Amino acid sequence: MASREFSLIDNYFKGKGHQRKDVVLGIGDDCALLSVPENTLLAVTTDTLVSGVHFLPDMAPRAIGHKAVAVNLSDLAAMGAEPAWLSLALTLPKADDAWLKEFAGAVIEVCEYYGVTLVGGDTTRGPLSITITAQGKVPVGKQLTRGGAKPGDWLYVTGTLGDAGLGLALLEGREQASADHREYLINRHCYPTPRLLAGQALRGIASSAIDLSDGLASDLGHVLKASHCGANLFLDKLPMSQALLGTVSLESAWRYALEAGDDYELLFTVPEAQKGGLDTALAHSGVKHSCIGQLRGGEGISYLNHGQPVVLEAQGYEHSWAS
Ligand SMILES: [Mg+2]
Repeated sequence: MASREFSLIDNYFKGKGHQRKDVVLGIGDDCALLSVPENTLLAVTTDTLVSGVHFLPDMAPRAIGHKAVAVNLSDLAAMGAEPAWLSLALTLPKADDAWLKEFAGAVIEVCEYYGVTLVGGDTTRGPLSITITAQGKVPVGKQLTRGGAKPGDWLYVTGTLGDAGLGLALLEGREQASADHREYLINRHCYPTPRLLAGQALRGIASSAIDLSDGLASDLGHVLKASHCGANLFLDKLPMSQALLGTVSLESAWRYALEAGDDYELLFTVPEAQKGGLDTALAHSGVKHSCIGQLRGGEGISYLNHGQPVVLEAQGYEHSWAS
């Protein structure tokens, strides 16, 4: 819909935040013009967040803006890419100044932090939805994909798992937590951290990588399928926060870690020969990493707790609380 009221991108986003030198022409013409160096692959990803489907309808605009950018940058992290450019398609029920100011502020803040320039966008009237396309750069041959893992490779994750899922459960009143834990867990749900430095540090070390959007069980399933492997997953090694463990039972914590999704941590595999270099590579990434299993031949995930087989029927989480 072309209306003056909805020519909002210019007002709120043009010339704001980090301005990269590789943007030959930014917001304002028919297209942006971007300069891609030789021997570089462009990594491109798009994610849509719909109100009531991917975020609660009453979520703060600052959180929506942060999350919309972060989940796209998380996909770049999972490919080992350095983030560079972002474009934004925003559908809004009405031009609400206060909402837009907060939303745009968060988008620009995350872009600024990660050295990303907003190079284009569009606004339309309709039910609230945000579509972002993020583009990043990775040297030819250094990209991380889901398909490179081999039997024997070790399985790792960054950060802690399950926090975002429990944060959502708290927001929806399905669980109760102490005030401290509640704040931490809800922040993990609303303000995910894309593991960009870790993703780039894993170039040449990890044999495969994916970011955890749907839940460990489901996302590991994607890696196993693409790599034609199975995996032994060590439940006793799953990294979980004090907030998660202090709020729900261990079994329930496993469920959140395996199924709830929205953690936006990286899941990656490392061949035995590269294991020694891993700690050094990730030393400056600002996030810890944990070995949670090992790949094997065959297919599917076998769950072990202190070496003993455990039967768990884990399934990926569907974004489905919208009525
Ligand atoms: Mg992904």
